[in-house]
Amino acid sequence: MSIKQNDKKKAPLRSIERFHHFRCGHCSGWWGIGDAPADRKDWYCPWCGKKNSFKKALTARAIPC
Ligand SMILES: [Zn+2]
Repeated sequence: MSIKQNDKKKAPLRSIERFHHFRCGHCSGWWGIGDAPADRKDWYCPWCGKKNSFKKALTARAIPC
């Protein structure tokens, strides 16, 4: 099968992603996940592997500069 035979045109697709920023309470490392489930509280840090229980996410305006 050549690339041309499999090259059917598809409709262009555009979507919006909500990017969640996390800071570990154990090692202070940061990581991010696009479209993370908003109601999930427990996440494991990819840097140190420890579990974090997060409260409701802050909005961008609530984060001090
Ligand atoms: Zn960590």
